[in-house]
Amino acid sequence: MKINKILIANRGEIALRVMRSAREMGIKTVAVFSEADRIAPFVRYADEAVCIGAPPSSESYLKMDTIIAVAKERGADAIHPGYGFLSENAVFARKVQEAGLIFIGPSPESIVVMGSKLGAKEAAGKYNIPMVPGTPSAITDIPSAKKRAEEIGYPVLIKASAGGGGKGMRVVENTEEFEEQMDRAISEAVSAFGDGAVFIEKYIGSPKHIEIQVLGDQHGNVVYLFERECSVQRRHQKLIEEAPSPVVSPEMRKAMGECAVMVAKSCNYYGAGTVEFIVDEALNFYFLEMNTRLQVEHPVTELITGIDLVKEQIRVAQGEALSFKQEDLQIHGHAIEIRVCAEDPRNNFLPDIGKLLTYQIPKGVGIRVDDGVEEGMTIPIYYDPMLAKLITHGKDRQDEQFVSGKFDTNFIKNYFSPEMLSPAEYANEAEISAMLASLLWENKAQTQTASQTATATAQASKWRKNRL
Ligand code: ADP
Ligand code: ADP
Ligand code: MG
Repeated sequence: MKINKILIANRGEIALRVMRSAREMGIKTVAVFSEADRIAPFVRYADEAVCIGAPPSSESYLKMDTIIAVAKERGADAIHPGYGFLSENAVFARKVQEAGLIFIGPSPESIVVMGSKLGAKEAAGKYNIPMVPGTPSAITDIPSAKKRAEEIGYPVLIKASAGGGGKGMRVVENTEEFEEQMDRAISEAVSAFGDGAVFIEKYIGSPKHIEIQVLGDQHGNVVYLFERECSVQRRHQKLIEEAPSPVVSPEMRKAMGECAVMVAKSCNYYGAGTVEFIVDEALNFYFLEMNTRLQVEHPVTELITGIDLVKEQIRVAQGEALSFKQEDLQIHGHAIEIRVCAEDPRNNFLPDIGKLLTYQIPKGVGIRVDDGVEEGMTIPIYYDPMLAKLITHGKDRQDEQFVSGKFDTNFIKNYFSPEMLSPAEYANEAEISAMLASLLWENKAQTQTASQTATATAQASKWRKNRL
């Protein structure tokens, strides 16, 4: 069925990014927004916009029935959930379908299987996919879990099956602290995810996080669009992502890609999805989880493959078969994404709010900015602190670590210390972001962009002085 109008059940940069592709396909867009986002760029960009409630997400962006009612009222045929919010909510996906609308994403059944890390392992386990040593099901009996932890060898990681966004994980160093950490992990999992199921995985000391983009249609075709290197993380959350990964050889790429396709097939997946792997120092890869949505870092894949993933999501949702095969896909150059977040670097990078005083967007060949903000805007406290993504694409890049791939999830711990920020006032922040930026850009034009970014960062740090 041809989609003519899409409601975007999200906000910020991702809402805009989805709307752009829809518009290019001649599809009308409906924005839904909270009172805090009344003047946001995505609201103005949409063909129609409807206020759905108060600023807290629970009173707006998470109100399933209200969103579906607006979609029907405005004559939309489909809902795109973006990422975060309702994107991995099977109940929502089902309600959308029951209302006679198309959910632009996988089936509710696939979301259910992959929404639980344990469910995902069980499904993938049938296909001989490599897994991190651990417990195959939720821990109900602490003494036997402790025994299993000893067999695996410390340190181990306790993980919430329903966890996400880097939350719900605890490292246990030795047997003495096992029980205490287990109790804490369970109560955290209950309060954060409403599900106390936890399991154990061997803690991999210096791992890389490498994930595979997959795309399937409703006719059983699934392809992989290569990998993204997402090891530069803070608090288990990605900050910088690159495609392709410098450590992945063509053979490893094929092996990981084929594994990812099997994981997708294990839950009859269609639409865009991501299969995440953790990779140890010997380059063994192990399945972590599958994210059943468009990923924040999807643009790096788009830049190296030339494929617009949102357009593909829409075509698949319309029931079209994929228009390309695995062998039609190729990698062109390198792409790096940097997440630009409203955070306070002096306060452990906790989310920060205030007025965005200066905002200059870099321009040039190979530069893409996906953003949801503009100068003068007040950054609301209610939502994710990510404001924009800077994505660059070129034939190569200069920084030694990035070229050699000699970095892991400890990159930030190894290269950043809070002392780098003090004692001078904010000047150091500019230096650090300039350093980070120049590490990543390849030529002079782009280095000028880096210094612009640095200026923007330094100015952004004035937010604190101008808090509302
Ligand atoms: P990605 O792999 O796409 O970078 P992240 O884990 O960083 O995914 O999450 C993407 C978005 O979804 C972020 O805005 C994050 O806050 C949100 N998110 C992910 N998982 C959850 C969850 N379980 N509960 C709430 N928000 C989540
Ligand atoms: P989330 O749902 O929060 O994204 P993941 O299972 O994808 O959870 O893990 C997020 C991050 O946590 C990984 O990218 C990695 O940095 C770290 N991590 C996860 N599992 C392990 C492990 N077994 N050993 C070491 N680090 C891990
Ligand atoms: Mg993950």
